[in-house]
Amino acid sequence: MEKRELVIVGAGPAGLTAAIYGRRAGLDVLLIEKGAAGGQINITEEIENWPGVQHATGPELGAMFRAHAEKFNTEFRDADVTKIEVRDGAKIVVTNKGEIEAEAVIVATGAYFRRLGCEGEAEHIGQGVSYCAVCDGAFFEDEEIAVVGGGNSAVEEGDYLTKFASKVYIIHRRDEFRADRAAVERALSNPKIVPVWNSVVEKIEGDGMVENLVLKNVKTGEISDLPVAGVFMFVGQAPHDEAVKGLLETTKGGWIKTNERMETSVEGIFAAGDLRDKSLRQVVTAAADGAIAAMSASSYIAEQVHLHSKLMEPEKVVALFFSSIDAGQAKLSGDVESAFERAGAAVVLVDGYKNARMVQKLGLTDLPVMIRIESGKIVAKKAVASEAEASEFAR
Ligand SMILES: Cc1cc2nc3c(=O)[nH]c(=O)nc-3n(C[C@H](O)[C@H](O)[C@H](O)COP(=O)(O)OP(=O)(O)OC[C@H]3O[C@@H](n4cnc5c(N)ncnc54)[C@H](O)[C@@H]3O)c2cc1C
Repeated sequence: MEKRELVIVGAGPAGLTAAIYGRRAGLDVLLIEKGAAGGQINITEEIENWPGVQHATGPELGAMFRAHAEKFNTEFRDADVTKIEVRDGAKIVVTNKGEIEAEAVIVATGAYFRRLGCEGEAEHIGQGVSYCAVCDGAFFEDEEIAVVGGGNSAVEEGDYLTKFASKVYIIHRRDEFRADRAAVERALSNPKIVPVWNSVVEKIEGDGMVENLVLKNVKTGEISDLPVAGVFMFVGQAPHDEAVKGLLETTKGGWIKTNERMETSVEGIFAAGDLRDKSLRQVVTAAADGAIAAMSASSYIAEQVHLHSKLMEPEKVVALFFSSIDAGQAKLSGDVESAFERAGAAVVLVDGYKNARMVQKLGLTDLPVMIRIESGKIVAKKAVASEAEASEFAR
């Protein structure tokens, strides 16, 4: 089976940034994408909130990201990842073009906004139909716009959109919102918000940009026109979690849970970008996640290599685990290194702060500590406070 160091699944902003960071950290990186590199930004008309680029179309920014990852010789593969699994402790990425064993995997498969499915929606995406208030709200300064939905997203984002729009109609199929009471009260007390109850959007019209919504009252069947410059759909967002269903811990909605190092519930598998459980799904946060995930994957891989080649493979090893953020312990590590050098003895120094997972794996609770490993097993350990105690332990 093909073996790789780091396999990244999904070449959106998160995956492409992870590739840049992974390659710059010297890793062998394989980036697998089933569609076009760039991800969701490929369907974004304008991006105005990527720092340093005041204006770009989504595809332009996506092409820049891809070119940047290519500059660092990222290997791209056009394939669909159908499953990621752990087999006998090995991480296997199953694609429609074969299986790959990876030392670490970053899942960056993104998310999607549920479409309303009405006539005229698809052709007006980026032309007045939007799924993201933070992304596109500012394009509707002093315009009348509509929001579709009745949950928290619709009500809260509708309220947010009144910062720009002169009027925001919230179109909901029932006669009360599903959102929590505080959000509903705030929205209904906002003079710029006009609820349109018991109504659904039948059709979105406009020559180029959105100009009009054709509404149907679900109680009376009455059809009416609502002239607006834009319509924001908040009928749900969901993660592309198909390849990791049942493998990783998620929220109820399927969003992948990670810690701030982007570690998932499975060791060596990281998640980055929109498919994570997070509060803001944007290009800049996806890129940040990708960078963190790549650096975490890099230290995970280094840790594995270090753990095996330096500590577990030799017949006998003496090691000092210390914490580099403790000035006393950092000094002790230098003193121990010099003392062992003078005595012509070998000691492996491990920064337990940077290699917290290894510390945990070896069951070391307090640092600094000396350990003796024989044929991959800890046979002795001792807390040490001085270079003399460390030398004594090694004798
Ligand atoms: C219409 C629209 C407008 C937006 N406007 C803005 C904006 O102005 N500013 C902003 O900051 N953000 C904006 N966003 C949000 C932004 O695009 C996302 O937050 C960002 O793209 C998330 O990046 P990601 O890498 O996590 O996921 P994605 O961009 O979703 O990329 C995931 C990639 O993974 C691939 N993939 C999925 N499953 C598989 C699989 N099984 N095998 C292989 N590949 C797979 C997909 O094809 C995709 O390319 C907008 C989003 C939309 C939809």
